[in-house]
Amino acid sequence: MGKTERDWSALERERMLRSLAGETVDLLVIGGGITGAGIALDAASRGLRTALVEMQDFAAGTSSRSTKLIHGGLRDLKQLEFKVVAETGRERAVVYENGPHVTTPEWMLLPFYAGGQLGPVTSRLGLTMYDALARVKKSEWHKMLDPDETLAREPLLRRDGLKGGGYYVEYRTDDARLTLEVLKRAVSIGATAVNYAAVMELRYEGARICGALVRDRIGGGEYELRARHIVNATGPWVDGIRELDRSKQGKTLRLTKGVHLVFDGARFPLRQAVYFDTPDGRMAFAIPREGKTYIGTTDTVYAGDPAHPRMEADDLRYLLDAANQMFPSLNLGPGDVESSWAGLRPLIGQPGKNPSEISRKDEIFVSPSGLVSIAGGKLTGYRKMAERIVNLVSRLRAAEGLAALPASRTKTLPVSGGDVGGSAGFEAYVRGQIGAGTQAGLGADEAERLARRYGSNAPRVFALAGESGEFAARHGLPLALAAELRYAVLAEMAATPADFWIRRTGRLYFDRPGVLRWKDAAGAAMAELLGWTAEERGGHDRELERLLAEAVAAAQT
Ligand SMILES: Cc1cc2nc3c(=O)[nH]c(=O)nc-3n(C[C@H](O)[C@H](O)[C@H](O)COP(=O)(O)OP(=O)(O)OC[C@H]3O[C@@H](n4cnc5c(N)ncnc54)[C@H](O)[C@@H]3O)c2cc1C
Repeated sequence: MGKTERDWSALERERMLRSLAGETVDLLVIGGGITGAGIALDAASRGLRTALVEMQDFAAGTSSRSTKLIHGGLRDLKQLEFKVVAETGRERAVVYENGPHVTTPEWMLLPFYAGGQLGPVTSRLGLTMYDALARVKKSEWHKMLDPDETLAREPLLRRDGLKGGGYYVEYRTDDARLTLEVLKRAVSIGATAVNYAAVMELRYEGARICGALVRDRIGGGEYELRARHIVNATGPWVDGIRELDRSKQGKTLRLTKGVHLVFDGARFPLRQAVYFDTPDGRMAFAIPREGKTYIGTTDTVYAGDPAHPRMEADDLRYLLDAANQMFPSLNLGPGDVESSWAGLRPLIGQPGKNPSEISRKDEIFVSPSGLVSIAGGKLTGYRKMAERIVNLVSRLRAAEGLAALPASRTKTLPVSGGDVGGSAGFEAYVRGQIGAGTQAGLGADEAERLARRYGSNAPRVFALAGESGEFAARHGLPLALAAELRYAVLAEMAATPADFWIRRTGRLYFDRPGVLRWKDAAGAAMAELLGWTAEERGGHDRELERLLAEAVAAAQT
């Protein structure tokens, strides 16, 4: 068993917290979304002793609730954010190379209509600039399509007024799994990352920040952690931590909510990802994935609890209207919604601008106590954001007489599971793994699916399958699911059913029938692995039921 897996088990959470409490780390990262994960990886790979604490599950904030695209942002081009487009556009290729098992190229269709926001000329101009700024490789340069070619690619599109389409490449990802793979790599090179560990208070030596009081939200214990530097990467909660530091002043966050709906592929048989105009002049995505189609997103100011954004009736109506005007033959209704999710954009407030106009650029604040906060940004740019933050930490260290750090190495550092010979080697890698999966007792399809999901960690999942026959039979679980569950708990720190069904497998969004079918058996299996009391099991079951209900609630009222 590799170090990554043994050391990143949900059974080890308390031990990790206890051991952290006994030392002073170089860097404490607060927040286990993609921003914090990226910082932990950059810092650990430059030799810093790094700890990360996350108050919910990893990626349970915005980083499991995005549109799940690694994209350069045509939207940013519209806002004339050329630097953002150039940086994030180029990053797409880097993110893909370092983790081809979590990122896949996806050709995107951009239809344009008479009287629409974009015409053939503006689209061609925009896409040409995009190819140049993002240094898109030649095989992925955009193409312009006439109306017939556009409809041939996606026959569900509205025909009235169709003038043609742009065709260009974006990258599809699994945001939560990307976050986990980044963190697993950080852990494999020495970082410690613990979920359900919330920073409650900050600690100071004189005026300088030096630590935090952390509460274990599962075990109940409290731990004093000490650190030379602390980064606040808490996304929608950034201002909350700045308040604890008494440094919330100047620019502040403005949260906007974005909702996505999921439909079964039989009801919404989209062949092709589409980026389309909404009736109110915004743009939305419709994306096929794993036999489902998802659409999104909304963009509305949000003032509720950042931990529980959810789909409301207005969001549902807005997205159904948008889908029905672009794909009119479908006539989608609330009863067709199979699942949904809602996320919060941690944007930097720009007074006077409406939500869709606010820049997605990240900003960094250093408070008088030395607390470094980062907010805004995107999934796509996580690696560059992390590099900038750790460069800043290096400068702060140098100013204090500590050793400066070597340059960032993450550009060519595969994330966990990404040791598959780069994007060019991935297909061959997957084919080469299928035999090992079938030898462990899995069907060839299952083995392939797992090899695609776990990349170079697939052998470990197959080994668990090989030793899980009795466990699976006892709980009445399919072998593949039993192996994934054990991997999630033992090697990916899944501590609750929601961790497994949402952040480890995405199935609450993309396979609701599967969750309904296996949730009881999987709950019993997790209870055995994690030693839950009947009361604990009841609490976890109720939480999962609540999340299942919320995913469709507005659709059913
Ligand atoms: C609807 C929507 C669609 C999007 N689509 C895309 C897209 O397609 N592509 C793209 O590149 N970007 C997209 N984004 C942006 C992207 O998802 C976010 O920029 C990114 O996920 C933010 O990550 P984060 O780590 O900063 O925040 P989060 O993921 O929210 O992580 C912050 C974490 O901090 C934790 N935390 C808070 N307080 C504490 C505390 N006291 N102690 C410990 N932990 C704490 C939280 O629990 C949380 O998990 C989208 C965003 C939204 C909302």
